[in-house]
Amino acid sequence: MRKHGSIPIVIVILILAAGGVELASMQKPAPSPLPATSPTDSPSPAALPSSMPAPTSTHPHAPTSTPTPAPTATPTLVPTPTPHPDIALHSPNPQGDVLVLAYHRIARPEDRWTRTPENLRADLEYLVTHGYYPVNLIDLATGDLDHVPRGRRPIVLTFDDSTAGHFRYLEDGAIDPDCAVGILLALHEKYGDDWPLRATFFVLLLDAEKPGAPLFRQPEFAVQKVRALVDWGFEVGSHTITHPTLSEVSDEQVKWELAVSKNRIEALIPGYTVRSLALPNGSYPVDRSLVVEGYSESAQLSYRYEAVARLGAQACPSPFSPDFDPYSIPRVQAIQSELDYRLSYYEKYPEKYYVSAGSGGIGGES
Ligand SMILES: [Zn+2]
Repeated sequence: MRKHGSIPIVIVILILAAGGVELASMQKPAPSPLPATSPTDSPSPAALPSSMPAPTSTHPHAPTSTPTPAPTATPTLVPTPTPHPDIALHSPNPQGDVLVLAYHRIARPEDRWTRTPENLRADLEYLVTHGYYPVNLIDLATGDLDHVPRGRRPIVLTFDDSTAGHFRYLEDGAIDPDCAVGILLALHEKYGDDWPLRATFFVLLLDAEKPGAPLFRQPEFAVQKVRALVDWGFEVGSHTITHPTLSEVSDEQVKWELAVSKNRIEALIPGYTVRSLALPNGSYPVDRSLVVEGYSESAQLSYRYEAVARLGAQACPSPFSPDFDPYSIPRVQAIQSELDYRLSYYEKYPEKYYVSAGSGGIGGES
């Protein structure tokens, strides 16, 4: 029984082993599903090993490289990688115009003197992608534009009256993302060196008895705010103390306003020099020379300004143009119709706008 039974089994095994292939291919269609499944199986094992090395190689790298690159790469990557994503570059033209935009309130709803946070954000996105590059007013006034990267168009953003929407802290201590400073910080976060923290805040010190009190409508943070602005790179300029129409007040009041406002702002920001002035209501004093320098008898303070911003509906001539006057810098009101008109003009005639030739190549200031 055992021998009989075992012999045929051995034979079958031998036959299968010897002519297995023939048997398989000729006798049964079963083999085809077999090879069919093998190839199916092989890709998976093939895919596995190939995918395995990945996690395997990542693994050995991970423990070693993660700690090392993380600290090194982060600080290095922030300043260096500025490959200018969608930013338009233009041909250098140091004789072109420069826009100085005048923003007043940043709040809702939009009106003649109010720009909404949404619209300010949209303005800035437009500006950065169209090659504009923010500078402080004093940089324009002194022709100090070498730090503007080659191919970029300098523009000045100014904010008058130090209203609440310019710089607001929320109850949790965070900067309101809908205030001008919050919006500018976010844009800088997004574009890095392509949109540095530059703008000029012309602040008002309404109450002479409380230096800095009404600044941005949060007296308890007034000092902290102006210092933070300067630390970040923004400019803080004078907008006088009481916002008078300078053409309607005495020479002594003009001098008092200009001397005291400069002096008080500087007292709030140790080591800082106020160099720019924005005329309240765009009005010059009868004696225009008073905006440059003077001495207030009543305050016993002297002052000197290097830049004066006024109102006006046109762009500022190049600081290298004979028409340029740092004591008469016109500003375009940042309202929709004006912005549409001015910005579309320079889209149509890009050769009319100032474009930096750079000094240290793209990247500008270090
Ligand atoms: Zn004003």
